[in-house]
Amino acid sequence: MIKFSDLSLNPKVLKAIEEAGYETPTPIQAGAIPAALAGRDVLGIAQTGTGKTASFVLPMITALARGRARARMPRSLVLCPTRELAAQVAENFDTYTKHLKLTKALLIGGVSFKEQDKLIDKGVDVLIATPGRLLDHHERGKLILTDVKVMVVDEADRMLDMGFIPDIERIFGLTPFTRQTLFFSATMAPEIERITNTFLSNPERIEVARQATTGENITQGVLMFKASRKDREATEKRKTLRALIDAEGDKCSNAIIFCNRKMDVDAVAKSLKKYGYDAAPIHGDLDQSQRTKTLDGFRAGELRFLVASDVAARGLDVPAVSHVFNYDVPSHAEDYVHRIGRTGRAGRDGKAIMICTPRDEKNFEDVERLVQKPIPRLDNPLGGAAPADEGPKVTDEASTADKPKRTRTRTRSRKQDTPKEPAAAVETPKPQVEKPAPKATKPAPEKPAEQQTPAPQKSENSNPRGSSSRGRGGSNNRNSNRDDRGGNKVVGLGDHTPGFIEFSFEDREN
Ligand code: AMP
Repeated sequence: MIKFSDLSLNPKVLKAIEEAGYETPTPIQAGAIPAALAGRDVLGIAQTGTGKTASFVLPMITALARGRARARMPRSLVLCPTRELAAQVAENFDTYTKHLKLTKALLIGGVSFKEQDKLIDKGVDVLIATPGRLLDHHERGKLILTDVKVMVVDEADRMLDMGFIPDIERIFGLTPFTRQTLFFSATMAPEIERITNTFLSNPERIEVARQATTGENITQGVLMFKASRKDREATEKRKTLRALIDAEGDKCSNAIIFCNRKMDVDAVAKSLKKYGYDAAPIHGDLDQSQRTKTLDGFRAGELRFLVASDVAARGLDVPAVSHVFNYDVPSHAEDYVHRIGRTGRAGRDGKAIMICTPRDEKNFEDVERLVQKPIPRLDNPLGGAAPADEGPKVTDEASTADKPKRTRTRTRSRKQDTPKEPAAAVETPKPQVEKPAPKATKPAPEKPAEQQTPAPQKSENSNPRGSSSRGRGGSNNRNSNRDDRGGNKVVGLGDHTPGFIEFSFEDREN
């Protein structure tokens, strides 16, 4: 078996790897590192969890160990689709370069340009960036890419989903023709194939097995769920989720709960918290510092349940997640693979449990087709259909107290505008849900504005110049913001706010 010491890495890099506790290279590392060290372009078809980050960082820093960066001219560039992923790559970079004197800058939205400018001005060896923010810096004349020797594109299929391919092509054009390119994607969509044919030169192609087809250590299950009444669906579904969590008992040490839409991420997190579960949401509309705090807490084991959208959770490396709950069937079957890949990592056992409503059945068929095996059906831990009432809970006196009255009025009045969350309104009778609610004396404020008036969402990620100014997205943007749109069939305005209303730019990262 190949060892790290066989790979001609810089001895200081080898030392850092040893200290990180890695014993042998993973298949993607064994394939990519020698090729990258030989100066070849690499096309890595692998997803998170395979060790792909080290497969490009290690050879990159070995090559960069010699030489120095000039002001505003980074020597290498790593492009990531989301801030979280970029931050994660930066962390990996710190781990592996701890015995080297290399400098880095992280260019992501939500961080002041001033700080980032300062770093770039000093000269950086490695620039880790999301495409939008990188182009912003370039357009401000603060960044010159003509000295880039190595360019990495990470999670290219996600870039495609998020409408970043035109940006990536532009960035390729700003770097020298002679650069080395290390390109990673979990899948090879035709558009990705086109990009690699255009910008990679005779790459070494390394493909590692997909997790869903090899992840025998992930136990999967699906609960076919039907609400007793349509207007009770959201409430009953959340109750069912709690029952599924409870049924796992202590085996569920921590979990990521995926929802298709941001507003469900919020509603589910709120509801769980209200019922005494240690849960917090993460999605693109949340303040960056809050996102970081939540993630750090989850990684440190201080937070048990992370309720997430696909985009926010994309590529996150959280090594020890015992469970993944799919509150919704993902509308793109491939997301199922990514979602359940959060558990059962590094040889551990994992469990992935999904709730499927009748509306999700078509998407569910797609998922089963993709994973090429039937997903075992689970019994409803509540026994049969969930009862119509969430049932009184000692911890939830306030909501049960004012529930019936508010259900009736809300349901009717909200039908015309945003009929999708009647139950959420019932379940969130108070603006703050962390503490047990006081007895409700009057109805709590209405749901947050974005749920009432589904205007385009402003976000902390928003490009100050307006993200569309470069016409990002274009024809490649067919799936942008997909975690919010869900994939359910739209019946009038039925259960679904149309994508154009919910459209926001922040999930495409800046
Ligand atoms: P990645 O696919 O880059 O997100 O890496 C997934 C996880 O595997 C990270 O927590 C890495 O620290 C870890 N890892 C990467 N390479 C190795 C290795 N050769 N041996 C053990 N763990 C590794």
